[in-house]
Amino acid sequence: MTSQTERDEKSKRAGQVRCPNCFARFRPPPGADRASCPACGREWYISWAGKLAKIRKPVWETWDQHFTETQQQE
Ligand SMILES: [Zn+2]
Repeated sequence: MTSQTERDEKSKRAGQVRCPNCFARFRPPPGADRASCPACGREWYISWAGKLAKIRKPVWETWDQHFTETQQQE
């Protein structure tokens, strides 16, 4: 009875990643090579294994921008 729900849950999670910065789950656009976390705004490089998305590393350019902006505000 729950098998259909479980399958749905799994397919829902398949394209999701967890932000290493704030641990929010989000779903990058399918096939995107980078995506930003809606919760903290950090941008990440994404790699794909079929439908499974994986965060590879931060996109430092946009992090630098963010840090520069933050420093300028202070
Ligand atoms: Zn985040």
